Amino acid sequence: MNQAFLSLKTLHTFGAEAFGREIHFIRSEDDLQVFFGMDPTSYYILGGGSNILPVQTIDRVILRNEIKGREIIHEDEESVTVRIAGGEDWDEFVQWALDQGWSGMENLSLIPGTVGAAPVQNIGAYGVELKDFFIRLEGVLLTEGKAMVLNKEACRFGYRDSVFKQELSGNFFITRVQLRLNKKFKPQLSYGNIAERLKEKNITHPDARAVSGVVREIRRSKLPDVGVLGSAGSFFKNPVVDIDTYERILVLTPEVPHYPAKEGYVKIPAGWLIEQCGWKGRRIGAVGCYEKQALVIVNYGNASGSEILAFAGMIIEDVKSKFSITMTPEVNVWR
Ligand SMILES: Cc1cc2nc3c(=O)[nH]c(=O)nc-3n(C[C@H](O)[C@H](O)[C@H](O)COP(=O)(O)OP(=O)(O)OC[C@H]3O[C@@H](n4cnc5c(N)ncnc54)[C@H](O)[C@@H]3O)c2cc1C
Repeated sequence: MNQAFLSLKTLHTFGAEAFGREIHFIRSEDDLQVFFGMDPTSYYILGGGSNILPVQTIDRVILRNEIKGREIIHEDEESVTVRIAGGEDWDEFVQWALDQGWSGMENLSLIPGTVGAAPVQNIGAYGVELKDFFIRLEGVLLTEGKAMVLNKEACRFGYRDSVFKQELSGNFFITRVQLRLNKKFKPQLSYGNIAERLKEKNITHPDARAVSGVVREIRRSKLPDVGVLGSAGSFFKNPVVDIDTYERILVLTPEVPHYPAKEGYVKIPAGWLIEQCGWKGRRIGAVGCYEKQALVIVNYGNASGSEILAFAGMIIEDVKSKFSITMTPEVNVWR
C-alpha cells in the first residue's frame, strides 16, 4: 500500500508545488493501523486536495483516503439511508444518488473532493449543507487507535465548521459517512439564481436532476475549472459579525449585503468586502483574485503556496483596515 512519492503538486487543486515526506494510500480501515498512536503533527489526512494550500516542504506523512464503497443500510417509503466510504468522489456520489431517484443533495452538485472530507467543513452551497441530511459517520481516532461512530450532535456542525476543525482536528480519520436521502423531492430554490435559471429554461416543475443541472451550469459559469486554473474555491469564510459592526458598515455603505446568522449576528459576503477593496480581478505575479468571483484566489501559473498565502494576507489587511473585519481562510493551510 505504501509508495514513496514526494511531489504534492498534482494531489491538490491549487497546483502549487509542495513536497511531502511520504504518501500512504489508505484503501481500507486496516491500512490505518500502522499510524495508531503516532504524533498527529507527523501526518496530514488528504482527500481530493480541493481545500488545502501547502505552503512549503511538509515534513509529514500524507495519508490519502482511497477507501471506496457505497451501500444502502435502510430504506422505507420516504427515504433511503446510504453508507458511503470516505474515499468516494463527492460529485460522483451525488450523481449516482440522483440516478437512483434520491434527492436532497442536488444543490451540492459539482463540489470537488471526497465524501470523507465533506463533514470536515460541513460543505454547503445554495442554502443546503451536509448536516441537513447527515445521520452519522465512522472513523478512527488515530492517536488512540480507536474506531468511533459520531452522530450529528457529536460532529458539532456549524458554518464551514465541525468538531473535525476543532478538538478532533488532524487526528480523526473519517472512513465512512451515513446520509439520509429523500425519495420525495423537496426543492430548495430560494438561494442564488437557481429559480431564475429554471424559469429561463421554462422548467416550471423541476425534479432533482433539473435542479442539479442548473446548479452545475451556474457553478461552471462562476467558478474556475481547477483542471485549467488552480484554486481551492472560496478562499475565505463569509465573516459573521455582530449587529453593531453591521450597523457601523451600513452607515458608511448602505448597500452592504447580509444574510441571517445566529441571533444578534449577520453574515456579510466576503466576496463583497473584497470587491469593495478593489481586489476583484487584481493580479500580482502568478496569483490573482478571480475576475468572476472575488472570493476565489487563483494560481495563474507557477505560484508557490507562500505567494498565494501572502496575496491572501494583503486582502485580509485591506478588508480589516477598511471595514475593521478580520476575515479568516476557509482553506486549510499546510505547513
Ligand atoms: C472550485 C471549487 C469549488 C468549491 N466549492 C465549494 C462549495 O461550494 N462549498 C463548500 O463547502 N466547499 C467548496 N469547495 C471546497 C472543497 O471542495 C470542500 O471543502 C471539500 O469537502 C474538500 O474535499 P477534499 O476531499 O478535496 O478535502 P481535502 O482538500 O483533501 O482536505 C480538506 C481538509 O479535510 C481534511 N480531511 C480530508 N479527508 C479527511 C478524512 N477522511 N478524515 C478527516 N479529515 C479529512 C484534510 O486534512 C483537510 O484539513 C470548493 C473547492 C473548489 C476547488
